[in-house]
Amino acid sequence: MKLSRILSNQNGVSRKQANALIAACMVTVDGVVCQEASREIDRFATVVSRGRVIQQGEQAHYLMLHKPAGYLSATVDDVHKTVMELIDPGLQKDLHIAGRLDRASTGLLILTNDGVWSRQLTEPRVKIPKVYRVTTMNAITADTIERFAAGIWFEYEQLTTSPAHLEPMGANESRVTIYEGRYHQIKRMFHATGNRVTSLHRERVGEISLDSQLAPGEYRTLTREETLSLY
Ligand code: URA
Repeated sequence: MKLSRILSNQNGVSRKQANALIAACMVTVDGVVCQEASREIDRFATVVSRGRVIQQGEQAHYLMLHKPAGYLSATVDDVHKTVMELIDPGLQKDLHIAGRLDRASTGLLILTNDGVWSRQLTEPRVKIPKVYRVTTMNAITADTIERFAAGIWFEYEQLTTSPAHLEPMGANESRVTIYEGRYHQIKRMFHATGNRVTSLHRERVGEISLDSQLAPGEYRTLTREETLSLY
């Protein structure tokens, strides 16, 4: 919502008065004077006018979880354990998952209550690298590397995947970097080359790497640098 609107939502304050207060440097957003009446203010910002709190900002949460195998990337489920069960109940409210992992997959999972921030991770237009360590049933061939780089045709979506980088790490091991996050994307890409994924572990999303200090099932708050790396 625009700053002037937040102020004029109070009883007895017109839009004109709100604009005048803002122009007179009487309004702060998160402790800093804001003279821009049309500034979009999210629910995490604290707005103070003439020393009175008009909006108390909610606390934003940004977490990285080391997802263990066997947990569903969901908030609730009748059958399976969900990753939300691994999070302290006091933090769970309004959290959502920014980029799911399949139930058997492990590694970096990001949870937040800030939908504007997480959209950068999930929006297909934003090409953020997602790096996976993959084990496959059959050995990696030069043809697979080329096909991943060229893009793989997905019949269901009627599209070719963006170029992906496959770095062999051993006969049946590779590190794969993709720039999208389609349903079962890595499994389907290997399947299209006649191979099968036997384990999948997400190591990194953009500049955010899974913290090696986190055991499966553990999580921590993202550092300020990690959070800001998405902007
Ligand atoms: N691609 C998959 O196939 N599965 C995942 O969990 C993540 C990416």
